[in-house]
Amino acid sequence: MRCSNCGKDIPFTGKVCPWCHTDKSGDQQKYALGFVFGMGGGVLGWAIHGFGIALIGVFVGTIFGFVASSRTQS
Ligand SMILES: [Zn+2]
Repeated sequence: MRCSNCGKDIPFTGKVCPWCHTDKSGDQQKYALGFVFGMGGGVLGWAIHGFGIALIGVFVGTIFGFVASSRTQS
């Protein structure tokens, strides 16, 4: 994932960014929410029309999760 403070690629685990030592719990929350929405979209797509729509559901759900989580944090 990417650090929202310095923009570098950082591992998902751990409490702070290894580069700038900023607390990354907000970034983790954002990625986790994107992942959850992505999975939800995939399952929903699968239920509607199988594998092809499931892929689109994962994509749309992930985007939606990112947008939703970045709106809740100011
Ligand atoms: Zn950083």
